[in-house]
Amino acid sequence: MAPGGGPEGPGGRGPGGAHVRALLGAYVLGALAPAEDRRVTDHLADCDPCGAAYLEVADTPSLLALCDEDDLL
Ligand SMILES: [Zn+2]
Repeated sequence: MAPGGGPEGPGGRGPGGAHVRALLGAYVLGALAPAEDRRVTDHLADCDPCGAAYLEVADTPSLLALCDEDDLL
């Protein structure tokens, strides 16, 4: 629906312009306060760099979870 097509999209850098990379670790672990968690979710939807960083960080707990599951079995 967007007439443009730029990699950065129209608009700016997300709410407040503050990136959330520093919060991604806690975000993935679910350790953020609801308000912060929501802010990060909102920012990730609008920020490609942070989204990419999130995917990298999101892998860590997955691996830990797999190790745990394997241990249980
Ligand atoms: Zn960002």
